[in-house]
This record gives sequence, C-alpha cells and structure tokens, in this order.
Amino acid sequence: MSQRRHQILPARPELLLILGSGLTVTLIVVIVAALLIREHASTLQAAQRSTSNITQLINADVLRNVELYDLALQGLIAARQRQDLAGVSADIQHLVQFDQSIAAPFKGEVLLLDALGSVVADSSTLKPTPRNFDNRDYFLAHKTAEQSGLFISRPFRIHCNCDQVWRIAFSRRVSGPSGEFAGVAVATMRLAYFDQLFSRLTIGNGSSVNLLNSHGILLAQQPLLERDMIDKDLSDRPNFKRMLIEGSGSFRAVSALTGKDRLYTFTNVGALPLIVVVALSSDDVLAPWKRAALLTISATGVLCIGLLWLTWMLRRELRQRHRVEQVLSELAATDALTGLANRRTLDQRLRLEWDRAQRSSESLTLLMIDVDHFKAFNDLHGHQGGDEALRMVAQVISGNIRRPADLAARYGGEEFAVVLPHTDASGAWVIAEHIRSSVEHLPRMANAERPITVSIGLSTWDKRSRMSLETLLLSADQALYEAKHSGRNRIVDAGTL
Ligand code: GH3
Ligand code: MG
Ligand code: MG
Repeated sequence: MSQRRHQILPARPELLLILGSGLTVTLIVVIVAALLIREHASTLQAAQRSTSNITQLINADVLRNVELYDLALQGLIAARQRQDLAGVSADIQHLVQFDQSIAAPFKGEVLLLDALGSVVADSSTLKPTPRNFDNRDYFLAHKTAEQSGLFISRPFRIHCNCDQVWRIAFSRRVSGPSGEFAGVAVATMRLAYFDQLFSRLTIGNGSSVNLLNSHGILLAQQPLLERDMIDKDLSDRPNFKRMLIEGSGSFRAVSALTGKDRLYTFTNVGALPLIVVVALSSDDVLAPWKRAALLTISATGVLCIGLLWLTWMLRRELRQRHRVEQVLSELAATDALTGLANRRTLDQRLRLEWDRAQRSSESLTLLMIDVDHFKAFNDLHGHQGGDEALRMVAQVISGNIRRPADLAARYGGEEFAVVLPHTDASGAWVIAEHIRSSVEHLPRMANAERPITVSIGLSTWDKRSRMSLETLLLSADQALYEAKHSGRNRIVDAGTL
C-alpha cells in the first residue's frame, strides 16, 4: 500500500535531543570535576602554606637556642685558650669559662673534656668528679677530625636512678697551639625543650611535628606516634631520603610508620644538620573538601539524573507525537473505504512521476478504471453491497501492481486510477488485463445476474509523444469512454483511437 511512501523521518529531532542532553550532562560533569580538582589542589596548598609557617617558627626558635649553646661552647674554648687566666684563682677561671652558659633553656651540663675524654671542667662544680666520655659519638667525631664546627650528637639518656630523660649534646673541638686535638667542649640539652616548643602548636589530629638530624635520627616528635620513637633511625625511609635531597619543600606520600597518606612540609634548620618536618594527616586536611565534594557530587548527580529523566520523557513524548502524526498523515493520504491512495495523493504522485518521466524520458502509463453498471449493482445489492464490491475491486487492483513506484488510487465514486511509471503501453496492457479478468472472476454475490466487471482506459506517455499531463488524463478518460461505448468489460488503449 501507499503508507510506506508517507513516512516521516523520526530520528533527527530525537537524535538532537539525546545529543544535546548528553552533551549538557557531560559538560556539567566535566565542569564540576574541574572545580573539585582545583578546590582539592587549593586545599592542599593552604595546608602547605600554614605548615610552612609552622616550620619557619620552629626553625627560628631552634636556631636561636642552638646559637646560645654554641656561644657557650665557643666562650668556654676561648677562655680555656687564654694564657692570662693561668695565674687567676679557680673561682675566677670557672666564672670566665662558663659565664655564657647560663641563658639557654633546658640546659644540662657544660663540660670540657681533655684529649682522652676525661672531664677537666664542669659548669656545675669547681671540682669535677672524675668521668670519661671517650666512647661518645661527639668525642669520636671530633677526635677523628671529621667534625670541625658544631656537632650535634645522637639522643642519649644518662643511666642513673635520678634522671632518665633524653638529652642531646652540642660540642666543639678544642685545638692545641699547633692545631692538634686537645679535647672537646660539650653542652647537653634536654629534649623536653622540643616537646615544649612543639606542643604549643596546633596542627590537628593524626598529624605530628618532627625534628631529625641529618643522619635520619629522630630527636623529637610531638605527639609521639609510637613509644620509643626517640633515637629511632629513619635514614632508610624513602620520605627521609627525599627530604635530604630537596632540603626544604612539601610533598604528599604514604608514611612508612603509619601507612597513612600524609602531607609533609620540611626545612633545614639554618646551616645546622637538623631537619624540621611537619607531617599532616591528608584525611584531616582534606576532610572539609571531602564533605563539600560529596555534597557537590550528590547535587550534580541529582541534576544530571533529572536532566536525563526529562530527556527520556521528552523523547517518549516526541515518539508518541510522531506516531500520531504518521497515522494522521496516512489518513489524510488514504481513501477511507478502500484503503487505496485518495485523489489528493494521486494528483501529487502523478505530477511527481510525470516530472520524473520528463527528465528520464521513461514511459509513463495511466489506467482509468470504472466499474460497469454500478448504479444497477447498487440498486440490486444496496449501498452496503456496493461498498463491499468497491473494496473487492480495490483489492484486486492493488494486488496487481507490484513495483514500489506504482500507485493505485480511488479517483472518485466507482472509478479508480493506476499510475505505472517506467511502463510502456504493452506492459501496462498486461497489468490492465490481469485487473480486468481478476475482477470478472471475483466471487459473485447472491442474486447477482452477472459478474462485477470493469472497463479500463489506458494512456501512455513516451518520449515521442508530445502530450501534456492534462492530455494524458484526458486521453485515458476518452479511452475509458470508448471502452464503455464499445461494450464494457474491456480495455482500450488511447494510442489506438
Ligand atoms: P457505467 O457502466 O456506465 O459506468 O454505469 P454506472 O452505473 O457504473 O455509472 P453511473 O455513473 O451512472 O453510476 C455510478 C454509481 O456508482 C452511482 C453511485 O450510486 C455509485 N457510487 C458512487 N460512489 C459510491 C460509493 O462510494 N459506494 C457505493 N455503494 N456506490 C457508489
Ligand atoms: Mg463512473
Ligand atoms: Mg461505472
């Protein structure tokens, strides 16, 4: 039938809708992701800035304090090397040697050791008790002349009943008149100094402030992540190695100690062999960002789902409308009684095929078919019977045309028309004859005296003929008239008139 020629393409608006909303959703997701990534980076940057300030604060305090110890040591060495003090009393000598060593907080002993490691002067007493420290790391370092400036020892504890606190020693080499090793000036400090300094800082849960020496030995940690952390050797940890290489900076890495992700900010303490490290818990730093991100992602998700749902609803609506439009357009193009194309469609298609034939010079044939004695048929079988007969004839006509371009239409009343593009008179005659004889052989209705028959007028346009479309119609009509006139139930070719 003719419906297939009247289909409206459904894909375009639907495709545009899906593409548009898909693109919008993608754009929203991309923008939100970019904003979240930027916010993530600036959260880390802000944390980094504030920890950098903390490390600078610690840096300044530690540097000032160590300077005090160094001054005390340098004062002690200078006083020891003064020849003019040889004649003065032990009291005055003691006073001159240790006058610089009072100011430093958390100060322990200040001692002078001779070349064998024995105590020769003690800040706390005029008569030092005989002790020897030749096995201490600072003594050995100065003795082997490895260390010419200020040396900072590993943490140690004095094993006596009264005092189990951690200390470190600051020391300097004492040289003889010709530069030979003459002993060590050493001052000890309680590590509680760092604990007191660090505990004043607020850095958040799961975070810690650390002080290490350049050999990776942990001198202080606040709060302590584990027991017995002090004096622990961290030199083989990748994070420490990186800090040693970079000197100062910031990076994010997993802590070998806790296994958790941390944001490390670190700096060298002046030119001293000390490194301050502030390790913030990434979870803690990023918690506000995570909360905001969760909220944003949920809101974006709801928005996108809403958008997709709307698109889906709109698409359904479009499809429904398209189906209705299709049905309406089919109805507008079809004859209600017979289901064939109606007169309007016939006119359009005939014009179309006519133009096409002019361009291609292919033959075009038109059949005009009229049911014979139909008035009498109606009178005998009633209007209903007449309608039924028209439906049967229409079925026979459409059953005898096969090519997609062929068109059968109801011209009006009991008249039909068939458009046969690319068909010459002889080919069309065969089709017309099939129609004629098939109608004749339709089953008769009760009380029918004769079979239903049709008369057919056939007119062909080919490139040799000079007729117009109107002439084609007229000549087909004339041929039909001739078929009626010469006895009905027959075909007349206008070309033979
Ligand atoms: P002829 O052989 O010369 O064509 O004679 P005829 O009776 O078929 O021609 P005429 O033009 O005199 O009559 C046509 C009749 O077709 C008149 C009308 O009642 C009938 N008719 C037209 N349209 C319809 C229809 O839709 N249904 C029915 N049942 N009859 C129709
Ligand atoms: Mg008629
Ligand atoms: Mg008739």
